[in-house]
Amino acid sequence: MDVINPATNKKIGEVQDFTEEMVHETVGTLEKGFAEWSRSGAAVRSRIMFRAAEIMRSEKDRLASVLTAEQGKPLHEARNEILGAAAVMEFYASVAGTVSGRTLPKADYGYAFTRKTPLGVCGAIIPWNMPALIMAWKVCPALITGNTVVLKTASATPLTNIEMTDILCRAGLPKDTLAVVTGKGSTAGAAVAKDERIRHLSFTGSVDTGNEIARMVNPGRTRLTLELGGSDPMIVCGDADVDRAVAGAVSGRFFNCGQTCAAVKRLFIADSIADEFISKLKKSTEALRVGDGAAEGTSMGPLNSASGLRDMESFVESIGSDGCVITGGSRLKGPGNFYRPTLILDPGSESRLLTEEVFGPVLPIVRFGDLDEAIGMANDSGFGLGASIWTKNLDDAREAVERIDSGIIWINRHLRIPPEVPFGGVKGSGTGRENGLDSLEQYLTEKTVILSP
Ligand code: NAD
Repeated sequence: MDVINPATNKKIGEVQDFTEEMVHETVGTLEKGFAEWSRSGAAVRSRIMFRAAEIMRSEKDRLASVLTAEQGKPLHEARNEILGAAAVMEFYASVAGTVSGRTLPKADYGYAFTRKTPLGVCGAIIPWNMPALIMAWKVCPALITGNTVVLKTASATPLTNIEMTDILCRAGLPKDTLAVVTGKGSTAGAAVAKDERIRHLSFTGSVDTGNEIARMVNPGRTRLTLELGGSDPMIVCGDADVDRAVAGAVSGRFFNCGQTCAAVKRLFIADSIADEFISKLKKSTEALRVGDGAAEGTSMGPLNSASGLRDMESFVESIGSDGCVITGGSRLKGPGNFYRPTLILDPGSESRLLTEEVFGPVLPIVRFGDLDEAIGMANDSGFGLGASIWTKNLDDAREAVERIDSGIIWINRHLRIPPEVPFGGVKGSGTGRENGLDSLEQYLTEKTVILSP
């Protein structure tokens, strides 16, 4: 399969289009590899992962170029993603030795204890928007607990994941411990989802694919984690620091060309500061430099695919008669998939901009009178991944924390997910959590041992 640079729409590489049989064979080799890796011990696994993180850090510029070329994001964002993935590796390397069971004393039968043991072969199916970070979120906790892993990369962005796998191998990961499967979702991805030898499958991607995968997985054999889309609200209250909130909205929406699961996707602004806020937001949005992510000074790259570009056009067409394009609203000339950073005021409650996930650089803005109204609109969504509230008032912040249905909520910022914090959604945004210490448990089972007196 060809790998295409979305800034030029030119071919930059080629990868194997895995058939079902090839996936089947790969899982077989990982089953064999499990015997050695599961017995390797936390200290060995930890050393390998620390070493891999060090290589990632020392080769960050080279890796960032690969990521930018296949995904489109500006080099500085790509570099940060590589460093973020290295930080996840370091986090899991540092907690490898914390896995422990329990002791359950009981005089009449001696005592019992439990051992936490790895599951076997685990599967990871990942999207193209943050391939390095999401690979780390899934692969690191699975490997560190002694599982082997089959990673299905997104068809658009396999190269960074292949490089990272190579780095883990150079750091000492034994053969048949981690395998990358490239190719189409409908064949290679489906083969991973249907393989009953896979003990845990972690999927990140769209709601439709997640639901399809849930139908393919045998729940009696395979644990399933689904990390799906989001339509995060950002609520800016009347007492917010306007400049800080403007900067947060710009980075929260236009980072990664708007293709981030927990990006700001709906902005609710208090009436009392709406005019000042919108005028400053327009200025900052128009200051963004859109271009090839590999070029110096680019602040926003292209959409990853031509279909993403068409999606943005169709979203903007969906605005109601009262809706107004403040800035942007069209594609840019050129061979790449470039769309102008776009702000839409009052798109209308029926607009798809408010009811669906907008995975690109278009931000709908709606004014509100009081916090109650803002929280009502924030919750009026099928998604529940992230949210943010911008205020100096602790009572308002607490109210939002308690009432907004989301897996994560930021106060006076939007987007930042350090390796220690659990991340995942509620409602249509999926089930389960990744990241943080708790993620280890997904990849472990508990064996009870009873010792007779
Ligand atoms: P997608 O659902 O199209 O694809 C995701 C992965 O699934 C890819 O590897 C793809 O090849 C594979 N796939 C596709 N069809 C399949 C099938 N029938 N069987 C098995 N596998 C199949 O998603 P995408 O367009 O790559 O990613 C964007 C979506 O991911 C957005 O909705 C975004 O919000 C979501 N996302 C969520 C999180 C999170 O943590 N919640 C993080 C990043 C992205």
